[in-house]
Amino acid sequence: MDFLPVFHNVKGKLCLVVGGGEVGKRKAEVLLEAGAKVRVVAPEIDPELAKQPGVENVMARFEAKYLEGVTLIIAATNDRSVNKVVSELAQARSIPVNVVDDPELCSFIMPAILDRSPLMVAFSSGGTSPVLTRMMRGKLETIIPQNYSRLAAFAERFRELVKTRVTNPAKRRIFWESALDGVIAEKVLTGDEASAETMLHKLLDSEDNIEHGEVYLVGAGPGDPDLLTFRALRLMQKADVVVYDNLVSKPIVEMTRRDAERIFVGKKRNDHTLQQEEINELLVSLAKEGKRVVRLKGGDPFIFGRGGEEIETLAAEGIPFQVVPGITAASGVASYAGIPLTHRDHAQSCVFVTGHLKDGTMNLDWEQLARPKQTVVVYMGLHGLGTLCSELIKHGMPDATPIALVQQGTTPNQRVITGTLATLPAIAEREKPQAPTLIIVGGVVTLREKLAWFHPHP
Ligand code: SAH
Repeated sequence: MDFLPVFHNVKGKLCLVVGGGEVGKRKAEVLLEAGAKVRVVAPEIDPELAKQPGVENVMARFEAKYLEGVTLIIAATNDRSVNKVVSELAQARSIPVNVVDDPELCSFIMPAILDRSPLMVAFSSGGTSPVLTRMMRGKLETIIPQNYSRLAAFAERFRELVKTRVTNPAKRRIFWESALDGVIAEKVLTGDEASAETMLHKLLDSEDNIEHGEVYLVGAGPGDPDLLTFRALRLMQKADVVVYDNLVSKPIVEMTRRDAERIFVGKKRNDHTLQQEEINELLVSLAKEGKRVVRLKGGDPFIFGRGGEEIETLAAEGIPFQVVPGITAASGVASYAGIPLTHRDHAQSCVFVTGHLKDGTMNLDWEQLARPKQTVVVYMGLHGLGTLCSELIKHGMPDATPIALVQQGTTPNQRVITGTLATLPAIAEREKPQAPTLIIVGGVVTLREKLAWFHPHP
């Protein structure tokens, strides 16, 4: 270990920043945020910095006398000889000193921070690679949600109460682990502190002080794991059980916790591995066993995903749940295929419909779908492609209207087949696209030639 990591309390203390330019300003602002009073010494001081409350401006060249009464020093001038003098004088007086971008002259270095005050993550590469530190910070950003601050404040608020109610320290640790990692925490993170508080009291009253199960209905997007949301990923890594079907791509299932139980409930046409009611019941019974269940759905759970039915059962049983939106196939597939769903010249509106055949027909409002200047996106439409095209033509859409069929969009197997209402059914017959496929109808399809950027390499 090259440095001792510590958090320095500078509230109300006088800190010195030598240098009044952009860098000095940034450093002074961090000090102010930590509650310090800041003396800025420089012949010229950034006017915005100068007028901040808590700043004492000394418009002068640096001299030793400005070190008086100072707790901590940052040198941020662009003159190394000045920085060096500051560093030597400070170190001779045992005042901690940091010289920006000059590790040799520093007695302490400033870490990169992730501020979720009162929770604070500070990290450093010991000055070896600021880029690496920044990348690490980016990664942490994704797993520590912004509103963790709230969670920390919530824990603080109930700290004393829990201490008096759960007197055994080992039990108290388990209590907090359970509360800060489960439903209560999720309630706080989604802004519902009132429910969180009620649950916390309930947990305190319960015999074992351990929380019971919950279900996360998570939209996993159309296939590319990069399209997951931060929240989806966080909950996937928290769940004890993963319930998924064949619309969820393998790399995404792999991103769930390694030791989590994985249950496949796949649904293919005419081969329902589990009926919807059975899936609903499975979720309920797993949660009742006290498990945290993530139900992964392709795309968005509330778009042709029967997400509503799954949570209806959970709600009826009083099981805590949350729904995490995902990128729906229409928007993921359209982006990757270079087809904007709306466009000033081609479409002012866009409708999503299901092309699922029932008794060999599609029950759709054809008049409405055939309107001009509109993009029609058809989910589950491959088997009804012929019907779709002929009905649209019959209801007035020109038979030269462009149409695209996208197979396994956003994945390495993405394939786009284009044609017109008149030609596509025969082309698709020949090309035999693999499920899942999405159909996009309208003028916007022509833009693809100019805009396609995603070229998968299977
Ligand atoms: N809830 C999902 C849709 C489920 S219905 C969502 O929001 O995307 C299943 C249909 O979605 C499939 O029949 C297909 O039409 C479409 N679909 C899902 N993922 C797809 C993908 N990667 N490429 C093309 N179509 C996709």
